[in-house]
Amino acid sequence: MTTIQTDQDNYLVVQNLVKWFGNDRAVDDVSFSIPKGHFLTLLGPSGCGKTTTLMSIAGLHSIDSGEIRVGDVVYTSPEQGIFMAPENRDIGMVFQSYAIWPHMTVSQNVAYPLEIRKVAQSEIDDRVAAVLKLVGLTDMAEKMATQLSGGQQQRASLARAIVSQPRLLLFDEPLSNLDLKLREQMRVELKRIQNEVGITSIYVTHDQSEALVMSDDIIVMSKGKIEQTGGPLEIYSRPVNGYVSNFIGVANLLKGQVLEANGNGLGRVRISEGGKDIEVDCKIGVGLEQGSDAIISVRPENVEAVREKGNGASLEGEVMEAIFLGNYVDCRIQWGTFEWKVIAHPRTRLRSGEKVYLYLDPDHTLAVQP
Ligand code: ATP
Repeated sequence: MTTIQTDQDNYLVVQNLVKWFGNDRAVDDVSFSIPKGHFLTLLGPSGCGKTTTLMSIAGLHSIDSGEIRVGDVVYTSPEQGIFMAPENRDIGMVFQSYAIWPHMTVSQNVAYPLEIRKVAQSEIDDRVAAVLKLVGLTDMAEKMATQLSGGQQQRASLARAIVSQPRLLLFDEPLSNLDLKLREQMRVELKRIQNEVGITSIYVTHDQSEALVMSDDIIVMSKGKIEQTGGPLEIYSRPVNGYVSNFIGVANLLKGQVLEANGNGLGRVRISEGGKDIEVDCKIGVGLEQGSDAIISVRPENVEAVREKGNGASLEGEVMEAIFLGNYVDCRIQWGTFEWKVIAHPRTRLRSGEKVYLYLDPDHTLAVQP
């Protein structure tokens, strides 16, 4: 076993990971690291390489090049001829399918990883009772696994994954078989449990709200590559490009060009979109300079629609649709051939067909790389 000096900030390290399937480069030179105890989400559309990255960490895939290590232990390194068998990696996994054994009770399912490790029976009993309490299944301990609901089965899988206190916990879309309400409850619950047990976790999903709610860090992937790494707020409010901006939540994305970049992150852009041409002050994202082509990204909640021109509200548009949704109004506003998505406060009482002026707050208008 090869060991490397490491620190708590680089607990799991994935370096230059490359995985080919035939002529397909499913993971294309991916590098990241996670501090001990953190919850990292790999987020991206179907086929972007999230699961392949996860499976490579689990040792369920070989890799073509790169290195994966946890703590000071190298798990996989083709260059060094190292491939640790999955069962020796000390990893807990929770999948989309619950993968619990139907012929066993809940507590037998949860006890299983400890039994194969030959842990003493009294310790098994204590630890199983403790994790069942943690996941809220104490009353179900003696039920057959098949008697549980989907949400309960997923709690049982989680209990089984954490009972042996593995070095890493891997989740592959674990909530996607549950209905929306349960999924929303389970997000919070799962995060609470992970926080309590403190096991370093990697979570794969294509659901951006799941990623925003649960993660300490998010990696947004596309076509086998990393587009951006950062905390939820950073990814949402400072996306590095149009792809991330669009993938994480809803955004108005307009073509433009940087006129001024003041070095302090502020500047001015020309928006050329929908047959219109206007200049606005905004934040200038990384990698942009004067003259760069850019995408101007404004979230619907950051566009203000008012009836009077003035105070910076200068883009004249027409309300095409205003749907009242209780605490907000979801609007579509036509501006030339461009359609703005706007979230308005109910007291604005916007109506279809009305003329409005849009105000783009420079602090929330962001120029990013195309
Ligand atoms: P999903 O959410 O749909 O699972 P993903 O982002 O997890 O998507 P991967 O499953 O990692 O994506 O797939 C990445 C690419 O590798 C895709 O083009 C996929 O078709 C291909 N791929 C994945 N597994 C295999 C395999 N076992 N054999 C051949 N190609 C594969």
